[in-house]
Amino acid sequence: MNTKKLFIPGPTHVLDETLRAMAQYPIGHRGQAYKDLHFEVVAGIQKVLFTKQSILLSTSSATGLMEASVRNLVQKRAANFTCGAFSERWAEITEICGLPQDTFSVAWGKPNQPEQVREALATGKYDVVTIVHNETSTGVTNPIAEIAKVVNEFPHVMLCVDSVSGMAGLPFYFDEWGVDVVFASVQKAWALPPGFAVMAISDRALRRAESTISSQKGFYFDLPLMAKSGAKGQTPITPSLPHMFGLQSQLKRILAETVENRFERHRQMAHRSREWGREKFGLFAESGYESNTVTCFNNNAGIDLGKLIQDAGNQGFIISGGYGELKGKTFRIGHMGEHQMADIEELLIVLDAITNALRDDR
Ligand SMILES: *Cc1c(COP(=O)(O)O)cnc(C)c1O
Repeated sequence: MNTKKLFIPGPTHVLDETLRAMAQYPIGHRGQAYKDLHFEVVAGIQKVLFTKQSILLSTSSATGLMEASVRNLVQKRAANFTCGAFSERWAEITEICGLPQDTFSVAWGKPNQPEQVREALATGKYDVVTIVHNETSTGVTNPIAEIAKVVNEFPHVMLCVDSVSGMAGLPFYFDEWGVDVVFASVQKAWALPPGFAVMAISDRALRRAESTISSQKGFYFDLPLMAKSGAKGQTPITPSLPHMFGLQSQLKRILAETVENRFERHRQMAHRSREWGREKFGLFAESGYESNTVTCFNNNAGIDLGKLIQDAGNQGFIISGGYGELKGKTFRIGHMGEHQMADIEELLIVLDAITNALRDDR
């Protein structure tokens, strides 16, 4: 297919093979063929997340599941930890839903730290933590394993993690770490077109959600209801079948590559991108917390970033500007999903040529 290639941190590049898999004639979503498909997709996602607990499939983007997790689980008060635009959105959602909450932020570019979480939870005020795994706006990966350890010192606190731009690209040991909710849209490291999201949820989180009043949960995102249908190989509503076919195809590919090799490929692509831009542009993320799926560069080179992005686009390589308050100050490259090292090398050659030309222009 003749198309410009996406190197933005979502939606990201989709293989022709995946697009073809999605374009199948519909099947009834209450029949045996759908059940088989549903269970196959669930089993695959369980392998990617190293979990034996429930997987929920949602015909929505991940933002729907951000909202679902707080509406289903907050009975006392939420502690929303923020370190960039997407984690801030979760705090905003919690507030808009009328749920009691407090926001604990760090400067953009820095990670949330376990100590910050312990200090907040020690007040005894909270029963839910929301935190982002991989902050797409800043290129920071939070130390979720360490943070989960702290949260688990407080047995009644549910840990909800947004791994929208991490899942299927970064390791996530759901059961071992003791996480209660993690979700992702499929247009990031899952490498599918947008419009669908997946969630893992712990048994204890489902029990909590069962005792949350229905008017707070709503219907579309009633997580225990979704789990109940899921146990029968169904969803409460009509699912996006093209995404189910696409997930089936992608999971075959991911499991054939092996998840370990997939994580290693992401690590290598990220390492190469960082080495390329460390001197020339500077990295926005605090050292030691740089993401392996998206890199956010500063502009030490002092070039016109709008022009860089535009010129790269004209040559068929779509990269991304800074998000939110970083607009005009940073740019981002997504290296996730089905990108290979050769694609990154190709992109960096193009960006080098454009950068040199823009420097001469100054
Ligand atoms: C993209 C993204 C979202 C939002 O996902 P939608 O699919 O637009 O709902 C949320 N959190 C993070 C970290 C993201 O990267």
